Amino acid sequence: MDAFELLILVYHSINKFMATDSGELFKKFVELFLFTVVSYMILSEYGRSKERHLKYLFIGFAALVVDKFIMSLFFAAVVFGDVQLLILNPFLPVLDELLELFALILLTNSFIFPVFADKVDKLKKKMSFEVVVLFIFVFVIEIFWLFTVIKVPAANFQDHLGFLLLELLKILVLYSPIYYIIANMNKFGRYGPHIIIAFLVYMITPITNVINFVFFDCSNNNLVVFAHPFLFISILLFTRVTFLKLVDKATLKRELAETKQKYVHEHELSIMKDEFVSTVSHELRTPITSMKLYLSLLRQKKFGVLNNKQLKAVKIVENESNRLSKLISDILNLSRLESKKVAVKIDEVNLRRLINDNLYYNLAEQKGLIIENKILKKFLVKIDSEKFKQVFINLFSNAVSYAKSKIIIFASKKTNYWEFIIEDDGVGIPKDKIDKLFDKFYRIGDYLTKDKGGTGLGLAIVKNIVKMHRGEIIVESEEGKGSRFIVRIPYL
Ligand code: ADP
Repeated sequence: MDAFELLILVYHSINKFMATDSGELFKKFVELFLFTVVSYMILSEYGRSKERHLKYLFIGFAALVVDKFIMSLFFAAVVFGDVQLLILNPFLPVLDELLELFALILLTNSFIFPVFADKVDKLKKKMSFEVVVLFIFVFVIEIFWLFTVIKVPAANFQDHLGFLLLELLKILVLYSPIYYIIANMNKFGRYGPHIIIAFLVYMITPITNVINFVFFDCSNNNLVVFAHPFLFISILLFTRVTFLKLVDKATLKRELAETKQKYVHEHELSIMKDEFVSTVSHELRTPITSMKLYLSLLRQKKFGVLNNKQLKAVKIVENESNRLSKLISDILNLSRLESKKVAVKIDEVNLRRLINDNLYYNLAEQKGLIIENKILKKFLVKIDSEKFKQVFINLFSNAVSYAKSKIIIFASKKTNYWEFIIEDDGVGIPKDKIDKLFDKFYRIGDYLTKDKGGTGLGLAIVKNIVKMHRGEIIVESEEGKGSRFIVRIPYL
């Protein structure tokens, strides 16, 4: 006998054994064991997370446990006691089907929970309706079955029309989640196909039973044998999906905890950075102030007359120290804005009056630039005036640096927001650089701009302040023709 023949022999022996009462008891007992383990797993997870779909899933598996427990008990009584299977014939087969179908309704509904996640009531109604229909249906079949058993006590339920109807119902119940899952595949992620396969495998048994009933008058034993393992396989597949989900959840939880830890760590670092920046900035300010003071004394000839070369050197040092103090105040400013420690204080402000700052206009005029302020005299907006002034100063000083002859300032009200525009006719900004403009310390390293001596922080500060007003900033620019910075703020 070769290995293949041996395999066939083992297979036939198993099937022969499975067809006996002892085989049936063995099968029911293994199923009971399997379902008990799965139910326990789901129950303990439900105890922890209290998720509703796990409740349904647990009740579903618990119904299967009850079903298999009753069946194991009866078959044990038949195998080990002297109870005749015939005595149980009027109720047992229908009860078996009822419990299985009840469990299937709960299982299918709990597996399609993601589709009904935000309308749980709808799912509950659907499920209650299905359970009620099932009980009525099974009750009617039981009555008919009783009539049959009274006439023929040894009748086989598998030959009864009621059995065919229940198997068809089973196919219908199993088809419904497949339909829902396929229609909403995106809500199931990687579990969708696994669940569908498990339901399809479960379906093989009732379909085989229906074929046997309709085409072979229930006499095809090969089909009965063929149908045996699929219930097992399907339940194993369900267990696998449930287990996968639990494992994924655990992984997700762990990742969440890690992210939280990382966030806390980063938050601590950011607090340290803020403190560092603020301390260093304050410490730097003091020497710069005294440097500036001595430079101005030097320039005022308080320490003797300077020759031209010396005067030029003093001027350079003075310019650089001004740049340094601007850099320090920008860093401090940005760090405060980013730390979110500063709150916005919204007031109703006259925009035209707010930006009427002679200091900056004089600077522009000194450069021979024309300023066109087109903002209406009574343009009232709700903003944090102090911070918005900074937006204006930063945008306007950039425009002054880069404009050739003219700067236009404009503001208008739209349906959902109002906008503030500063436009210049300067060098413009290359398209591919626009996105980076708002990055910290970003300056277009171009021959056109490198002599302008900025810090690269002005626009980052602007963006932060605009964000605090829940607004956005847009840049439109054409190289060589000029740039337009548009700030849009929703009505606050
Ligand atoms: P900076 O202190 O260097 O002006 P910003 O953040 O305000 O820093 O600006 C970043 C860069 O964006 C500038 O260095 C400049 O290259 C470019 N830029 C800003 N405004 C304009 C403008 N109106 N026209 C042309 N380029 C501009």
